[in-house]
Amino acid sequence: MEDLQEKISSLKGVGPKKQQRFLKLNIETLEDLLYHFPRDYEDRREIKKVRDLEDGEKTTLELQVHPLKKRRAFGKGPSLLQLVGQDDTGRIVITFFNQPYLSQMITGGTKLRVYGEVKRGPRGLETTNPDFILLDEKQKNHWQEILPIYPLTKDIRHKELVKLIKNLLQTLKEKRDDENFENLPKALIDENKLCQRLMALEHIHFPKQAKGLKVAKYRLVYEEFFFLMITLNFKKTKVREQQGIFLQGDKEVQGFLQALPFEATKAQKTVIEEVLQDLKGSVPMSRLVQGDVGSGKTVVAMAALVAAVAGKSQGAMMAPTEILAKQHYETLSRFLNPLGISVGLLTGSLTPKNKKMMQEKIREGKIDVVVGTHAVIGEKVGFHNLSVVITDEQHRFGVRQRKTLSEKGNNPHVLVMSATPIPRTLAYILYGDLEVSVIDEMPKGRKPIETKTCPMEERDSVYEQMKEELNKGRQAYVVCPLIEESETLDLNAAIDLQDRLSKNILKDYKIGLLHGKMTYIEKAQVMKQFTDGELQVLVSTTVVEVGVDVPNATVMVIENAERFGLAQLHQLRGRIGRGEHQSYCYLLHQQVKEATRKRLEIMEKTNDGFLISEKDLEIRGPGELFGLRQHGIYNLKIANFFRHQSILKKVQQDVKALLQEDPKLQLEKNRKLRRILNQKLQRYRD
Ligand code: ADP
Ligand code: MG
Repeated sequence: MEDLQEKISSLKGVGPKKQQRFLKLNIETLEDLLYHFPRDYEDRREIKKVRDLEDGEKTTLELQVHPLKKRRAFGKGPSLLQLVGQDDTGRIVITFFNQPYLSQMITGGTKLRVYGEVKRGPRGLETTNPDFILLDEKQKNHWQEILPIYPLTKDIRHKELVKLIKNLLQTLKEKRDDENFENLPKALIDENKLCQRLMALEHIHFPKQAKGLKVAKYRLVYEEFFFLMITLNFKKTKVREQQGIFLQGDKEVQGFLQALPFEATKAQKTVIEEVLQDLKGSVPMSRLVQGDVGSGKTVVAMAALVAAVAGKSQGAMMAPTEILAKQHYETLSRFLNPLGISVGLLTGSLTPKNKKMMQEKIREGKIDVVVGTHAVIGEKVGFHNLSVVITDEQHRFGVRQRKTLSEKGNNPHVLVMSATPIPRTLAYILYGDLEVSVIDEMPKGRKPIETKTCPMEERDSVYEQMKEELNKGRQAYVVCPLIEESETLDLNAAIDLQDRLSKNILKDYKIGLLHGKMTYIEKAQVMKQFTDGELQVLVSTTVVEVGVDVPNATVMVIENAERFGLAQLHQLRGRIGRGEHQSYCYLLHQQVKEATRKRLEIMEKTNDGFLISEKDLEIRGPGELFGLRQHGIYNLKIANFFRHQSILKKVQQDVKALLQEDPKLQLEKNRKLRRILNQKLQRYRD
């Protein structure tokens, strides 16, 4: 078998430089190359009549050539061959530049099949440099009827990619080793009537007819779902083998709830009950709590921590940013200290001395609950007796981080909290190893945020409306445009925006700036000024996205909102609408396509995060939505959770049956699968 894990530099014509360029398309190995699927096809099958052509249309024609009219060469300039072709309905002028040899091939009476763009010019219909073949026996078979169109970057030419893929497929075909090349279990191929892998790859790239393409697609969608599901479920069985720490904290949690300054919502109570059940179970808890921004997930987290401490053990809570960790630290201290629970903060910006002291206290068990950022897991933190681990805003965490933390204790219970709501079925798929709880109710008295999408021309009036709120004593956020893939540019945009606002529209107001390149201390200072009301307006990059809680802030302006995904806009918007006053969110956008504006308008219509993320999912796919884009296993190339639900369902059944029979994939017939799986897991290690 050709080793598909070989780098593409093993191919003829691919040197180190080209290899680099291919990396931009995420093509590293031969397998990557084969799985770089066309994003579309150019269908050249339908042969049109000249009479029916429209201006600008790309199409196939079959023509007979008139006796040659013109043949010209402009000195050293481009050569030109111009001729008239005709079918039984009309004629069209064909121009070839720079192909002088054509005048040898084409003469009056020659029959051609051409594919090109048709233009209506002063002399009637024309086409320039079309693809063509002579309609004789020799060439007829070389007509490619359906051409692949690939996603490209600017340094890679289409022709080059086509050639590489074609050659590789040819090499594989010559080996005639279908069985060895296959990566799915034979029983499943037979049962689902899937076509062979090599055939599927050949037809997805170079389909001969629609049916072959359909069969190929089906097989590849199945394959993609199969490896996604088996990876997730394989892990799940591993979790199940562990022994959980028994925690009984019902009484203490009741006490905690009664001490709250508000009544927990019904949804919060239900989820807390589910968590308490897990903590008494025989396997470690592995639960995802989903709840829209502001639904009160922290209360659930605190309940779990109370149970941990009631069981004479420690709890840990992780947040994606230091600001959020500090805020959690303050919240947890406020609610848990009165119950006699000690809370410690452990972040990357502690002085080495303080960090060491804190670590020591944690090790000795003098701290009951530790709040921190990644630093908690990144360094040598030993716990005295860790039983509950909570990660907040999970969609921002790598799966790997979650795992490292849970390895710190003796199989601690894990609670994952996410504000990006996902349909339950999808959650199961994406987080195959987690049970799912949903907080589907908001605390009483919340006023829905009023959201408006506004074109840039209305910018001044938007800021006037902001001022009205500021004059009433409220505060506001301005979120800077997101500039892709460049933190420095993001930063410049933020500084620039603050500068312009404070010189012009908002010159009478106190404005602060918050961005990702500031040190933690700087960020914390600005946040404190904003929380204390010393700053009225906070200009920020997307670092405000998560968690921040300032109830007096009631206005948010998002600049260039068209650059954000819906779920992210919803997250951002969740920073306001947290207090008693009516809140307003303005989505400023540049001139955008109708579809983009429609997408933004979804934000006006609903405050329901579930609905919004469902829309986002339809539009952008799950990888991007959950920050899993870079995670190869989740990076679906051809399968689609919505379009291919029935295939997914079947795959789910098949994988379940397969793992039921052979949970560790140890049977002889599953050996190869096991090897492929290990290979994948290693490459996309989490
Ligand atoms: P999120 O789910 O976005 O993490 P938080 O846990 O930060 O939400 O809660 C948002 C705000 O709502 C906090 O100020 C919190 O104290 C408050 N809150 C939580 N639960 C309730 C409740 N049942 N009734 C009233 N306010 C609540
Ligand atoms: Mg939160």
